[in-house]
Amino acid sequence: MGFRLANVEGRAALVVGDHYYDLEKASGGALGSDPMAAIAAADQLSEIAAGLSEQTPTGKLADANLEAPSPRPSNSFGIGLNYRNHAEEGNMPIPDAPLVFAKFPSCIAGPSADIQLRSDYVDYEGELVVVIGKAAKDVAVEDAWDHVAGLCVGQDVSDRPAQFTSAPPQFNMGKSFDTYGPIGPVLTSPDLLADPGAMQLTCSVNGEERQSDTTGDLIFDVPQLVSYLSGILTLRPGDVIFTGTPGGVGVFQNKLLRDGDVVTTTIDGLGTITNRCVRASDHARADFLPPQMKALLGKD
Ligand code: ZN
Repeated sequence: MGFRLANVEGRAALVVGDHYYDLEKASGGALGSDPMAAIAAADQLSEIAAGLSEQTPTGKLADANLEAPSPRPSNSFGIGLNYRNHAEEGNMPIPDAPLVFAKFPSCIAGPSADIQLRSDYVDYEGELVVVIGKAAKDVAVEDAWDHVAGLCVGQDVSDRPAQFTSAPPQFNMGKSFDTYGPIGPVLTSPDLLADPGAMQLTCSVNGEERQSDTTGDLIFDVPQLVSYLSGILTLRPGDVIFTGTPGGVGVFQNKLLRDGDVVTTTIDGLGTITNRCVRASDHARADFLPPQMKALLGKD
C-alpha cells in the first residue's frame, strides 16, 4: 500500500511507476484537485492508488511540470545543527533540544524552481523534508509517524549574511527569501520506504558531490521532531519540516552558490530535485559578514 502524491501545475495527482493520474478524476470526484486538500485526505490516497491499474493515466511523470507537493503550508520549520558532522564543521555545540527556525511558507518552491541569489554568500543545504498529514498536538514519539503524510527532498537555501546579520542571530530571514525552500519532486508515504530512518542523501553542485550522508545520522529523528514541535503548537495538514543538513555546506569550503550553478539533491527512495541559481538584485545587508565567516572566506 502507500502512495506517491504529485502537484502537477496546481492539481493533485497520484503517481504509479512512470505515470501520474489526476486525483479528482481518479477518485471519481470524491476528492478535489487542491494538493493541500489531498494531503489532508492522505488516509484515503493509498486505497485510490491501489485501484489505478484499471484507469488510463493522465500523463507521463517525466513530461509533467511539477510544483511543490505542499504548496501552501500553514507553517514551515527548519531544524539547525541536526547532523553531528555539520555541527562539527561549524564548530558549534551539539544541541540538546531541536534548534528550530522559521522558513516562512512564502519561501516554498517547486522541485525545479530557480533559486534567486541576492548576495554572494548564498549556500545550499540538502535535507529530508517531512509533510504533516493529520493534525498533531502533544503527540508522543511512538505515535508521530501516524501524523506524517509523507516525505520528500528539500533544499534549505541559506543567505548567510541575512542569517547572521543580527546579534544574537536569528536564522528566520536568511532562510526565508523567495524561492529558498524548493521541495519535491513528489510526496512519498512512509509505508513505501524500506526504512525512512536510514536513507542516503546527496547534494551536488554542477555535478560535484558536496554532501553525502544517511538520514540515520539525524540527531533528532522524524518522530522526535514531530513530537517536539507538537508539544509547542498544533501541526496542521501540509505543514513542512526541513529536518536539517549534513556536513559539506559551501561556506566552510568557500564554495558558495553563483549565477548559473545547478544544485541537485537526491534522497534514495524519494527522488531528485534540481534547481538552477539565478543572480537577482542585492538585498540590504548583502555585504555583511560576521567576523568568523570573514576569516573562513579569507575576506579579512
Ligand atoms: Zn538547514
